[in-house]
Amino acid sequence: MSVMPEPLLALDRAHVWHPYSTLVDPPSVFAVESASGVRLRLADGRELIDGMASWWSVIHGYNHPGLNAAVRAQLERMAHVMFGGLTHAPAVALAAQLVAITPAPLDAVFFADSGSVSVEVAIKMAIQYWAARGKPGKQRLLTVRGGYHGDTFAAMSVCDPVTGMHRLFQQTLAQQFFAPRPAIRYGARWDESDIAELARLLEVHREEIAAVILEPVVQGAGGMWFYAPEYLRRVRELCDAHGVLLILDEIATGFGRTGRLFACEHAGIAPDLMCLGKALTGGYMTLAATLATREVAETISRGDPGVFMHGPTFMANPLACAAALASVELLLGGPWAERIAALEQALETGLAPARALQQVVDVRCLGGIGVIELAMPVDMRIAPRAFVERGVWVRPFGRLVYVMPAYVMAPADVAALTAAMCEVVATF
Ligand SMILES: *Cc1c(COP(=O)(O)O)cnc(C)c1O
Repeated sequence: MSVMPEPLLALDRAHVWHPYSTLVDPPSVFAVESASGVRLRLADGRELIDGMASWWSVIHGYNHPGLNAAVRAQLERMAHVMFGGLTHAPAVALAAQLVAITPAPLDAVFFADSGSVSVEVAIKMAIQYWAARGKPGKQRLLTVRGGYHGDTFAAMSVCDPVTGMHRLFQQTLAQQFFAPRPAIRYGARWDESDIAELARLLEVHREEIAAVILEPVVQGAGGMWFYAPEYLRRVRELCDAHGVLLILDEIATGFGRTGRLFACEHAGIAPDLMCLGKALTGGYMTLAATLATREVAETISRGDPGVFMHGPTFMANPLACAAALASVELLLGGPWAERIAALEQALETGLAPARALQQVVDVRCLGGIGVIELAMPVDMRIAPRAFVERGVWVRPFGRLVYVMPAYVMAPADVAALTAAMCEVVATF
């Protein structure tokens, strides 16, 4: 690179938006020069063990030779081609693979360019489905508090109404129905009262509700909360009883993160629509997918206007599809379940000392996710630097200090990462 770190950071500060950030006195960012395996190499030469897997996505580690080769081979053929009226092997092979590995009723794949868009697509499909069945009044959604489904408008409307962006965009956001956050933890004994309000809302508003949308088992960006799979089983039954579709947003949980290939498998249920993203390409490129059952796909296709009304310019980008296909094959070709079980154990062992800290209200691990929940919000002007100084990359939000490393992280690196987390948290 010809641009040195200091001018680069000054230009960044002057002109570049970062996620959920400000251009007036922005908090410092760190320049990454390259990344390999589970390590980020900063422009100043420091190396960090990466706890974030670039927001759930880099499940095999950075700069993976197999994924690099797959993208390079596709690049030699074509980087992109429009998907209207044309098709290509990477998209078809990936769609077939996704249909094969997701729960059986899911049978049709719509490729989108980001997770948020795949959520928009699922919502549009649900509404078109009911219109095709002569129920155009079913246009609203039911969800739970504490959720996160993306930053575009329909996705925002089903994010948590308090921590989400409802206040700012009140006049433009669709008004949806919210039940309380599932209260019973993953692994705790089920109690039917947990589902009572959702059941009541479904009963009262079934003629207005097109779909229930949930993150299965793990609520991610809305609070890193792990809830009882029984909740999902009951939601599936209630949706069937009341004639409402079920959308499961597996964008964060898909591809093994919770210990099952898809989190809905914890409950042994299948949705009518499923959203995939994040780890889909092994973190190489932006790609997402909405999967629908044959029944949903055919109902939409036979109804008015006879087509599904969506079509992104970069739909099914061949480079992204090639990366995704290679990533899924790499995952399925290795002992992913054993690796994630071992990662869960290592996270549990490494984070256990944090339970004794007075700043900490909860420590929880599930699959490849480890969470320390604090009593008070983390100071984001101080925390990132404290982690970097200890040689790790951890980006807390709110009261949560959490990691979801690449599945291939070695035990010694998990130990170093979790030790740094406990150390930094003790200074808060
Ligand atoms: C990240 C995320 C999204 C949004 O995906 P983008 O690719 O950032 O648009 C939606 N739902 C869940 C559960 C997510 O974790």
